[in-house]
Amino acid sequence: AKRVYFFGNGRADGTAQMKDLLGGKGANLAEMTNLGLPVPPGITITTEVCKEYFQLGQQFPEGLWEEILEGMKKIEEVVGKKFGDRKIPLLVAVRSGAPVSMPGMMDTILNLGLNDESVEGLAESTGNERFAWDSYRRFIQMFGNVVMGIPHEKFEEILEAKKEEVGAKADIDLTAEDFKDIVKKYKEMVKRETGQEFPQDPYKQLEMAVRAVFDSWNNPRAIRYREINKIPEDYGTAVNVVAMVFGNMGDTSGTGVAFTRNPSTGENEFYGEYLKNAQGEDVVAGIRTPQPLRKSQKTDESQVSLEEEFPEVYKELERIRDILEKHYRDMQDIEFTIENGKLYMLQTRTGKRTARAAVKIAVDLVKEGLITKEEAIMRIDPSLINQLLHPMIDEEDKKRAIAEGRLITKGLPAAPGAVSGKVVFSADEAVEMKEKGEKVILVRHETSPEDIHGMHAAEGILTARGGMTSHAAVVARGMGKTCIVGAETITVDYDRQEFRVGDIVVKKGDIITIDGSTGEIFHGEIKTIPANISGEFEELMKWADEIRDLKVRVNADTPEDALQGRKFGAEGIGLCRTEHMFFNEDRIPVVREMILAKTKEEREKALKKLLPMQRSDFKAIFEVMDGLPVNIRLLDPPLHEFLPKTEEEFEKTAKEMGLSVEEIKKRAEELHEVNPMLGLRGSRLGIAYPEIYEMQVRAIIEAACECKKEGIDVKPEIMLPLIADDRELAELKKMIDRVAAEVFVETGVEVPYQVGTMIEIPRAALIADQLARDAEYFSFGTNDLTQMTFGLSRDDAGKFIGKYVEKGILKGDPFMHIDENGVGQLIKIAIEKGNKTRPGIKTGVCGEHGGDPRSINFFQQIGIQYVSPSPFRVPIARLAAAQAKI
Ligand code: ADP
Ligand code: MG
Ligand code: MG
Repeated sequence: AKRVYFFGNGRADGTAQMKDLLGGKGANLAEMTNLGLPVPPGITITTEVCKEYFQLGQQFPEGLWEEILEGMKKIEEVVGKKFGDRKIPLLVAVRSGAPVSMPGMMDTILNLGLNDESVEGLAESTGNERFAWDSYRRFIQMFGNVVMGIPHEKFEEILEAKKEEVGAKADIDLTAEDFKDIVKKYKEMVKRETGQEFPQDPYKQLEMAVRAVFDSWNNPRAIRYREINKIPEDYGTAVNVVAMVFGNMGDTSGTGVAFTRNPSTGENEFYGEYLKNAQGEDVVAGIRTPQPLRKSQKTDESQVSLEEEFPEVYKELERIRDILEKHYRDMQDIEFTIENGKLYMLQTRTGKRTARAAVKIAVDLVKEGLITKEEAIMRIDPSLINQLLHPMIDEEDKKRAIAEGRLITKGLPAAPGAVSGKVVFSADEAVEMKEKGEKVILVRHETSPEDIHGMHAAEGILTARGGMTSHAAVVARGMGKTCIVGAETITVDYDRQEFRVGDIVVKKGDIITIDGSTGEIFHGEIKTIPANISGEFEELMKWADEIRDLKVRVNADTPEDALQGRKFGAEGIGLCRTEHMFFNEDRIPVVREMILAKTKEEREKALKKLLPMQRSDFKAIFEVMDGLPVNIRLLDPPLHEFLPKTEEEFEKTAKEMGLSVEEIKKRAEELHEVNPMLGLRGSRLGIAYPEIYEMQVRAIIEAACECKKEGIDVKPEIMLPLIADDRELAELKKMIDRVAAEVFVETGVEVPYQVGTMIEIPRAALIADQLARDAEYFSFGTNDLTQMTFGLSRDDAGKFIGKYVEKGILKGDPFMHIDENGVGQLIKIAIEKGNKTRPGIKTGVCGEHGGDPRSINFFQQIGIQYVSPSPFRVPIARLAAAQAKI
């Protein structure tokens, strides 16, 4: 097979499609050449050669060198100079380029081919001595560092000493004589450091450089990068050898980088930077401050834009910008160099962009007729949408903060957004400070249901423990709160009211900023950019809605969440958890009374107090969801979750109930279960204590009737959790119908309602045909279903599931992405069986998976009718559902 691909003079062997073989850089250099753009000629040695090289134990395969030499001949012909010539030497850049962009690979080497003789030739033939010696010293520096492994600082020291000696402020102030002396010192230093002379034979230089590129594929930095980013080990890198063009020839030369559209806002405006009389990395390295590309990009009058300085070149660049965008049909990130007023293109690739820019660019490209709506939708990573719904950190200010050493540590990015606030260590304190108008960040080892009010009050939540599906993470995502979990380096010290990371101490009241998109935690405040649901975003979502089949509801327990979900486009409530209404501060004492009641009478007394509270809860939600279905789940968790825990709570409850603390404790003990998650919970509560469920059904139906009287269009659905048996379901269904009928008689109004069941126990999936006799719909509680199918506790899995993923036993955390093989199979069975008994039976997913794009794709395939995520994931689900359809 062909090992070396040529490009130059308007014709290239390769194309942009050949990224795997030529690497991204090489493939695009070929493409630009074929487009007739001014690209200096060059060759690309393929990624296959890199693989061969390693198979042969780091040897060039036979015949490779000859092919390279042939390629060099072609470059020489196009440029009209000879490589290794003493008088008018051809110089080349040696550049690595893997199929995917990979920092950590070898840096580019410029000006290769220079030596003690040809540097004189270069000086003479260009009539520019300073330029020649500047190029040579740059070459020795890059080659010495990258190929010979000499640390950067060794070169910097010599350069800095020289600058000091002659009183030069910047590199630009150094003269030819200065560079000559620097070259001499560089070479001496190279000899000292490596015991070798700096190689003088250009072909030897070339061979060493090509080898260095291949070798860099397996340097620790690159390996680590591939590990983190899941890039296959066997891709290999290509090597590009490209004729040099010179941006450092004086004031009519320069080098720059640009984006064809603004990468942070997505605005359709050319955006970039350049430096006069400079080479290669000077622009990004911050040696001098680069100047703006466009006049209108200037931020102060002292700047000189490329548009003003090189108007002809600028026009040419604009023309190329247009060609590239039309051709690639996407925003490009380009690198260019100007040699004596002539423009050369050195690279193009798809430009990285913020979430906001990604959406704007995709929508604009549709309007410009370059891509279809479907393509626009497919181009947006749904998880990016998440960032758009929350304030984002200001990158400039963050850079500053990092430079000032304010980055404290990093945890897992559990819920996006960037927020600042004072550190507090308890939920109560969070509430108190919030009431005083302070912004707080709640910092805990981990959170539990008792912290909910504090989580609500806080701007953000930070925990030292827990994984991406821990309590804090799940609840925060549900609330749309910024959250970082599992910041393992943090020690939370409740006694001293501080947290520590190494010898950094953060005390209560100190201000920190947390970025839930990256997991970073900073001292002090960092500027943020507010969430921006711009016109384009809305437009994109509208297109998604037109395309998708899958409906999207929302999980909401409060009117606020319901409203948020509705604003984000939810088409109903897929799960309304009634227990969350029980955790409310005014309610919990009554709930405790109910639970600790010894007799039915005692219990009914407490339930009577709860009834109006629940009724008003439901009514408020029905009002918000006017016209849309609301699926309410009857009480689900094990009762012990509501019991008093602290001594103080026991005393309070005892007083309220007129009993002794001992008596209360005794009753609490009786409720103790060995394995509560498999104990008295879900519909078992409805069988064991029918009056609890009766009260809830009554509250729902009464609220619905009241709403109907007020002209609100209510569509209640009553859902029974944790059903395992058809007779269990039949009994509860009978109760629901009886209570509803009673209420209808009492109120004189009738409201249509549906009764359905959760499918969250494997047995329920297997007998779904029997359940469908009474159940009018199925809602797959995929959290519990996963837990029970795997026999894996969600709250404990975090401690070891990582090992399973690491070892490749599991592809991912099954609580994040649905397990298609096992859990997915159960869902399929249930849908099939359900349809046999009740054709077209309504099916939905209300677990965390309902907001996960990968899982949504699967749900679409197996015919689920709706998903129901937490409010802030509704837009993500809408987009993912459209993508699943396309
Ligand atoms: P990276 O992958 O880090 O972007 P490149 O191979 O693109 O590395 O090289 C970095 C810089 O070196 C380019 O932006 C350009 O300024 C300069 N450069 C690369 N090739 C050439 C060349 N043939 N002539 C002049 N400068 C070059
Ligand atoms: Mg580059
Ligand atoms: Mg459940």
